[in-house]
Amino acid sequence: MEKLAIFGGSPVREDRIYYGRQCIGEDDIQAVVDTLRSDYITCGPKVAELEKKLCGITGAKYAVMVSSGTAALHISAMAAGVKPGDEVIVSSITFAASSNCVLYCGGTPVFADIKPDTYNIDPEEIKRLITPKTKGIIAVDFTGQAVEVDAIREICKQHNLFFIEDAAHSIGTLYNGKPVGSLADMTCFSFHPVKTVTAGEGGAVTTNDEETYKKLLLYRSHGITRDINQMVNKTDAKWYNEQVTLGFNYRMTDFQAALLISQLNKLPDFKAKRKAIAEKYNEAFKDMPEIFVQKEIPESDTARHLYELRLDPEKLTCTRREFFDALYAENTCPQVHYLPVYWHSYYESLGYKHGLCPNAEAFYENSMSIPLYPALTEKDTDDVIKAVKKVVEYYRK
Ligand SMILES: *Cc1c(COP(=O)(O)O)cnc(C)c1O
Repeated sequence: MEKLAIFGGSPVREDRIYYGRQCIGEDDIQAVVDTLRSDYITCGPKVAELEKKLCGITGAKYAVMVSSGTAALHISAMAAGVKPGDEVIVSSITFAASSNCVLYCGGTPVFADIKPDTYNIDPEEIKRLITPKTKGIIAVDFTGQAVEVDAIREICKQHNLFFIEDAAHSIGTLYNGKPVGSLADMTCFSFHPVKTVTAGEGGAVTTNDEETYKKLLLYRSHGITRDINQMVNKTDAKWYNEQVTLGFNYRMTDFQAALLISQLNKLPDFKAKRKAIAEKYNEAFKDMPEIFVQKEIPESDTARHLYELRLDPEKLTCTRREFFDALYAENTCPQVHYLPVYWHSYYESLGYKHGLCPNAEAFYENSMSIPLYPALTEKDTDDVIKAVKKVVEYYRK
């Protein structure tokens, strides 16, 4: 048997491939430079143009660009009216920002388990967790695959709950033919460099509700308005603006907006490339009993953000840690997404206990994300598959 690199064998390749990376072209760079030479570098015409473009892509009536996905989640939770005493049901396998926004508002996140095959929040678990204090649901389109939107919307309707979709992974995904961004009460996007399209840092909230939209605008910019209809001390003096609530500075700059506009022009291409790579991995792994392939629901036409390699621990002699390190030594560098949020020591300090979400915990203990981004070449993906197979063969029971 071929020796693994970790034990002194030669690695599958010399240079490292990481699990994700941004894809910036000369046209993206030029768009940023042009904006830096223009009259506005923040909150000018590029942010307005981008908001319009995002409405076009998502089919939403309104879009509010902000400085990060975390900011998008924060102002969404505020606009939804989350306050101390409220419970909000959140996916358990996600980045901590999905539930931190509930804490920012003084509310209590309640973690729902995932389905063992799709890795998305289980609507039956949501139902089980509803109490008189439940105010809403924050559901994450994990890996880019849409959550079960119809089932979640039905639960929200029955129990009068808000539905925030954390779409940090899923820009470009369609659910029953409709784009993510127009399906929930509010949808939050992130444009961090690991995501499908990037603004360096950035985020957005989309909504179809005008009242919500007005609140989001206020929270983005200190709670200050220039709209006389929103003022308490009304005046049309040209210099006057008034703070009517407590908000933040969560604005996006115009040069970030220019970068994202340019990136969004490539979204169909990025989506096609990501899909093709995910399909190639599925094809390579589907007949290997040591690996589970993520179930895809037919409703979701997925712009895949992450590819999850999930191991069957019954069929391997190694731990996930050993598998991860061996793959790393072969120069295929995975990452783990995610620690169940309530396993973070901060959440433990709030009283959350292990054992809350068994499917999420089992998923975390056996999974890792392998390289997936549009600039991967045929050879790169062949090498990833070769490295995975080499490690599996070595540790096969
Ligand atoms: C990246 C991410 C966020 C946070 O976005 P930032 O832009 O990094 O603040 C929130 N939720 C999920 C699921 C994410 O992947």
